[in-house]
Amino acid sequence: MSNRELVVLGTASQVPTRHRNHNGYLLRWDTEGILFDPGEGTQRQMLLAGVAATDITRICVTHFHGDHCLGLPGIVQRLSLDRVQHTVSAHYPASGQHFYERLKHASSFYETATIDEHPVTVDGPIAAGKFGVLEARSLEHGIDAVGYRLVEPDSRHMVPELLRSAGVSGPDVGVLQRTGVLGEVRVEDVSVPRPGQKFAFIMDTRLCDSVFALADGVDMLVIESTFLKEDIELAVAHGHLTAAQAGRVAAECGVRQLVLTHFSQRYQDSSRFHADAAEEFDGEIVVAADLARVPVPKRRPVDSVR
Ligand SMILES: [Zn+2]
Repeated sequence: MSNRELVVLGTASQVPTRHRNHNGYLLRWDTEGILFDPGEGTQRQMLLAGVAATDITRICVTHFHGDHCLGLPGIVQRLSLDRVQHTVSAHYPASGQHFYERLKHASSFYETATIDEHPVTVDGPIAAGKFGVLEARSLEHGIDAVGYRLVEPDSRHMVPELLRSAGVSGPDVGVLQRTGVLGEVRVEDVSVPRPGQKFAFIMDTRLCDSVFALADGVDMLVIESTFLKEDIELAVAHGHLTAAQAGRVAAECGVRQLVLTHFSQRYQDSSRFHADAAEEFDGEIVVAADLARVPVPKRRPVDSVR
């Protein structure tokens, strides 16, 4: 099993359908579990998908329309009910602070879990750690909305045989990694490039510069495609994207894997989203389905690291 995967909890925009729960996604990324946009019913979908409250280390809300946040009260209370010990970070557009507070304290519960709030105020990095750097950027929707981008920096993987033949061992390995050189040995002599992985999460927005900035060169792009191209007027009027636009973004940004989601209830046949996107993008396209697990693509080949 991959230690980096997207667990799809729901794929419906606006209202749930018989086959689609409200939005909700958990990105497993090594030891991080980032819950994006918990819509209504997310708690039950987590159960069905095999996601535990303790798996959540971070919550990222793109905006405060119901399909992206009405599951927050259940999640917040569940973190306490399950006695989650670690601090969970929460990110959301700062102008929605009052919505966040209402959702967080929607009803009475015994609060034990710690949630650190980090409202997003400006575009740029919002968190950094072993996982890489998490960035946010404002999108264009009816209310303040942000997209997220996770970037793991390129690094180098030390090769044990090369270390051995260079006579480097023990704490010297760490010194070499940090300083780049140890006596005659350079870090390039005993290691190979390890390309960092990138992920972007883009929900409700019309096409704008931020969409392209967020999606630039990512391994996995999770993006709304509320409408088919035949309904482009509706998409523009309501501040949404079509599957064809999502495909074009993926093509122009050099995305490796495109994950389409957030579908309007007016379409029952999800394969039509694939067809629209495939006219624009010849890479891998996944039409998200509830409870699907989508592995983050394997690292780019080494020769793609400059
Ligand atoms: Zn939505």
